Amino acid sequence: MLLAVTLNPSVDISYRLDQLKLDDVNRVADTSKTAGGKGLNVARVAHLLGMDVISTGVLGGSLGQLIERLLDQDQMKHQFLHTNQEPRNCIAILHEQMQTEILESGPTLTKDDQKLFLNHFRQLLNNIAVVTISGSIVNGFTKDVYSEMLQIARENHIPVILDTSGESLTESLRNKKALPYLIKPNVNELRQILGCSIGNDQAEWKKILNHQMFAGIPWIVVSQGAEGAFVKHENVFYHVEIPRINVVNPVGSGDATVAGLAKAIEMNLNDEFVLKYGMAAGLLNAMEAQTGYVDQAKFTHYASLVEVQKL
Ligand code: ADP
Repeated sequence: MLLAVTLNPSVDISYRLDQLKLDDVNRVADTSKTAGGKGLNVARVAHLLGMDVISTGVLGGSLGQLIERLLDQDQMKHQFLHTNQEPRNCIAILHEQMQTEILESGPTLTKDDQKLFLNHFRQLLNNIAVVTISGSIVNGFTKDVYSEMLQIARENHIPVILDTSGESLTESLRNKKALPYLIKPNVNELRQILGCSIGNDQAEWKKILNHQMFAGIPWIVVSQGAEGAFVKHENVFYHVEIPRINVVNPVGSGDATVAGLAKAIEMNLNDEFVLKYGMAAGLLNAMEAQTGYVDQAKFTHYASLVEVQKL
């Protein structure tokens, strides 16, 4: 079973407008509200790919109840720690072939909430094969909270896929005794944490994936959108090529990739299939309008089109 963590979930609201009028009233007929946050995208895609998944994180208030209702509607299991704080709204306005986003930063929780959550997390680990931790840390929690979760997962011998960026990633890689099993930065996130430009030749990729900061992490999967991925597993390097597809909406493809990787890891598949599953889930998400959604019927076919080359 997969445990998918989202510390800062959201109600994602999408407004479709012919034209966005500034300093004026915009009336919207075409709206949708979905349960959002990167970990909930992972959970939805993993669920669609047939995995048994529990979503967790911290939720409260009436918007928290709405998120749980939306998950129930999709038959997705959840066990959130409940607080009295409302989660955030994230608004995407789709207009004139553009997407304007207004993202709330979310509630500010307390150190006591963090303690309660870590305890809650520990108790959920029975029967869990893989944990995914995705996205930013909720306000008020300490920046080493992911590191603490990695430590708890390690005590329970459970591999963790960590998909976060910036300081929450670098901070989580400090404790070499409790590292994630897999990280999945995209190229921009990698550039940001290493503070250098990244070329495209194999020798340079090997040097980057061998960076001291990543020492001891079994899997490093650097996703590159339509270009596939460069990967290191233990001491073996791979370049992964993906087929050309008709891209509809690539938002959430990284989360879908994490779901595909988690599925293959839970199934104990070999390296080639871990990468085929990850890439196929990512590209299937890019073929759909809805963020964090894949058409499971196409999965085997697209996984077979992914080419994994050992370097
Ligand atoms: P993130 O969403 O985290 O920025 P990427 O954009 O690298 O991550 O996407 C993750 C994976 O999703 C890619 O490795 C690829 O398999 C698939 N993907 C993303 N964008 C595209 C695209 N435009 N065309 C085909 N596949 C894509």
